[in-house]
Amino acid sequence: MESITACLGTHGLAFDGAIDYQSHHSPRYEESLHRLYEQGDLFHCCCSRATLAPDGSCQSTCARRTVDTTAATSLRVRVPTDTVITVRDRLLGQMVWPLGKYVRNFIVRRRDGLYAYQLAAAIDDAQPAVTQVVRGRDLLDSTPKQIFLQQKLGLQSPVYAHLPVLTNPEGFKLSKQTGAPAIDATRPLDNLRSALQQLGQPSPPQDLASAGELLAWGQANWDHSRVTR
Ligand SMILES: [Zn+2]
Repeated sequence: MESITACLGTHGLAFDGAIDYQSHHSPRYEESLHRLYEQGDLFHCCCSRATLAPDGSCQSTCARRTVDTTAATSLRVRVPTDTVITVRDRLLGQMVWPLGKYVRNFIVRRRDGLYAYQLAAAIDDAQPAVTQVVRGRDLLDSTPKQIFLQQKLGLQSPVYAHLPVLTNPEGFKLSKQTGAPAIDATRPLDNLRSALQQLGQPSPPQDLASAGELLAWGQANWDHSRVTR
C-alpha cells in the first residue's frame, strides 16, 4: 500500500482526504446485507466451486431450501430474470444490460465471512462524497451488478467512466498476474506522457517540467471524444 501511494505521489496524484479503507466499513456492509435479507433478496448457498455454473451462479436448489445458517455458507443475491440495468457511461455512452438474462444470482458474502467485492464496491462507491468512478474497462462486467445492488439498497449511483486498458499481445490486461513489470517510478514525466498518448489525447508541450504541470495541462486539454472506444 505504501509503495502504491508513493508511486501515485511521484506522478503528482494526491489524495483529497484521508485514505478510506474497506476494512473499516464492516458495519455498513453488515447493515446492507441485513436490509437485503429483510427484503427477501438473499439466500444461503452451500455449493462448492465444482457445482456452480460456469458464470459463477448457483444453479442448484439453495435458493428454495432452508439451510442451516449456522453452517459456513455464502450469501447470494437473487437477480430477477426481467432485471435490466441502464447507465450512461461518460466515455461509452448509453449502456443497457439485460442483467437478469445472464446472471441468476451472485455472491455478496463469501463462505469465509468476507464481504464480496461487488457488495463492498457498490456500497462504497455510492457514498455521498463519491460523485464519479473512473476505472478500467476490465471492470465493466461488474458495473451492472453494482448498480443493481445500489438500486436494491436505495442508494444513488455515481457517474461511471470506464477507460480502455493496456493489454499484452495476447490481449490480456497488463498486470502483475500477466507478468507485466511494475511502473518505473523514476520516470513519472515519461509515464504521464505515455498514458495521455495511449488515451488518444494530444501531446503536451516538451517544456513542461513537473508531473503537476503535465497533469494540469492534460486536464485542461482533455477530450472525451478522443479516448479509444
Ligand atoms: Zn448454491
